[in-house]
Amino acid sequence: MSTNLVIIWLRRDLRLQDNPAVFQAVKTGAQVLPVYIYDEHAPFAPGAAARWWLHHSLKALSADLKALGAPLILRRGDEAQTLHALAKQTGARAVFWNRRYAPAEIAIDKQIMARLKDEGVEVSSFNGTLLREPWELKTGAGAFYKVFTPFWRALQAAGPARDDIYKAPAAIQSPRKKPASDRLNAWGLTPSKPNWAREFSDVWTPGETGAQQRLNAFLDRGAFDYAENRNRPDIEATSRLSPHLAFGEIGPLQIWRAAFSRMEEATLKNHENAIDSEQALKFLSEVAWREFSYGLLYHYEGLRDAPLRPAFEAFPWREDARALHAWQQGQTGYPIVDAGMRELWRTGWMHNRVRMIVASFLIKHLLIPWQEGEKWFWDTLVDADPANNPASWQWTAGCGADAAPYFRIFNPITQGEKFDPQGVYTTRYVPEIADLTQKYRQRPWEAPAPILKQAGLQLGADYPEPLVDHSAARKRALAAFEMTKTQPI
Ligand code: FAD
Repeated sequence: MSTNLVIIWLRRDLRLQDNPAVFQAVKTGAQVLPVYIYDEHAPFAPGAAARWWLHHSLKALSADLKALGAPLILRRGDEAQTLHALAKQTGARAVFWNRRYAPAEIAIDKQIMARLKDEGVEVSSFNGTLLREPWELKTGAGAFYKVFTPFWRALQAAGPARDDIYKAPAAIQSPRKKPASDRLNAWGLTPSKPNWAREFSDVWTPGETGAQQRLNAFLDRGAFDYAENRNRPDIEATSRLSPHLAFGEIGPLQIWRAAFSRMEEATLKNHENAIDSEQALKFLSEVAWREFSYGLLYHYEGLRDAPLRPAFEAFPWREDARALHAWQQGQTGYPIVDAGMRELWRTGWMHNRVRMIVASFLIKHLLIPWQEGEKWFWDTLVDADPANNPASWQWTAGCGADAAPYFRIFNPITQGEKFDPQGVYTTRYVPEIADLTQKYRQRPWEAPAPILKQAGLQLGADYPEPLVDHSAARKRALAAFEMTKTQPI
C-alpha cells in the first residue's frame, strides 16, 4: 500500500475545525487516513452515557469526513496493537495525533510513539485540547498552580498558545485502497432493552455542527445573564457545551476567540452581537477551570483514585450500599438532590450547582467516599471528563486543589430554595411533589398533614422520607472532617 500516507489517530478531538492534527496532516500534502480506535479496556474508556454520545459523535464525524473524501476508519481493540497493525498494513510514513494528559494515557502514547519510531514511522503530536499546555504556566517559584485565581490571572496574561483558528480542510486526499473499517452499529455503543437514553436525543445533538450551534446560541442569548444566572438550574443560562468539549467536538480556543470577538463588538458599539465583558470573562473563567483541572490530571498520578490531600487516606468513610443506591436512583427524600440525580439519569447531564449539591450530599451527609460518586458520574454523564470529573469530586470532598473548605456542607433545603426558588426545576424531575405549596417543595416532611393530603402526597409511599436528618448528618460530617482541616496539599 501507499507510503506517502499519514494516519490521523483521533481520540477526544472529534472535530475538523481547529484540529491541529488534522490541519497539519492535510498540510503535508500526503494522503490522509483518519482513524478512531475503540478500546473498551483503555484507562478512560467511556461509560455508558458517554458511549451513547460517542456513537452519535462518530456518526457525525464519519459523515463530515466522507464529504471531504476521506472516510473514517473504525477499529475496535487494544489501542497500541490496533494502531501498529494499521500503520504496518497501510505502510504509513507518519502518525499524527492530539495529546492526552492523564499519566496513564501519556504512558501508552509514549510506548506507541517509541515503537512506531523504531519501525521508521514518524510521530507528531499537538495540543488540540487546551489553551495552554499544563507545563506552560508556572508560579513565580516555578511550580504549577494549585490555586485557581492566580492560575486564571496567569492564563489571561499569557493568552492562548496560538492566535489563529485552524480552518477545517476543504478536501482531504485519501488513499484509493483503504483498509477495512468496522461498522459503527456493530460496536453496540447505544443502549437497547431498555433504551434508557431515549430522551438524550431530545436534548443533545452530538457532533461538531451541534457544538457550533450550542456556542452560537449561547453567545446570542445565554451569555447576557451568565454571571447572574449561572447558578440557577431553572434557567438555561449556561452554555451546555461540556459534552462537546469532553469529546473535542469544539476546542477551547474556538470558544475563547468567539467570546473575545463578541466583547470587541461592544467596543465597536455593535450592540446586536455584543457581549458585556463581565459576562464573557466569567464564562471564560469557567472554561479556565477546565484548564486548571487538566493541570491537576497531568501533574498528579491517579487523580481519580487517590485524594490529593494525604490526610484523607485515613478518613472514616462509611460503607452503605442502601444509601448509595438511594442517591443514585434519586430517592433520598431531599427534592433538589433527587431532581439532580434524575436529571442525570434522564438527560446524561446535570446543572453545575446541582452537581455540587448532590456531590456534597453523598460525601458529607452520607459519608460515602467521593470515588463512588466519581464512578457513578463517569458512567452516567455524557460529559464525563477525565480531568473535570475527578478534580470536581476532590474539590467537593475538600481533598482536592483549591478545594471547598471542610466545614462547607451544602444545606440541600436552603440551596434548593435559593437556586430554584419556585421549584420549577425540582418538580420537573420530582413530579411527586409538584402539587405541594412552594413553601414545602424542598422540605416536604415539614408539611402539615392537611397540606400533604391536599397535594395527594403520602411520604414513605409516593416519595421517600429523608434518608438522613440534615442537622444530625451535618454534625456527624463536621466531626469526621475535623481531622482533615490542617492538611495542606
Ligand atoms: P458552562 O458554565 O457554560 O461552562 C463552560 C465550560 O467550562 C463547561 O462546558 C466546562 O467544560 C467548563 N467548566 C465549567 N465549570 C467547570 C468546573 N467547575 N470545573 C471544570 N470545568 C468547568 N464537567 C465536565 O465537563 N465533565 C465532568 O465529568 C464533570 N464532573 C463534575 C462533577 C462534579 C461533582 C462537579 C461539582 C462538577 C463537574 N463538572 C464536570 C464541572 C461542571 O459541573 C460542568 O462542566 C458544567 O456543569 C457543564 O455545563 P456547561 O457546559 O453549561 O457549563
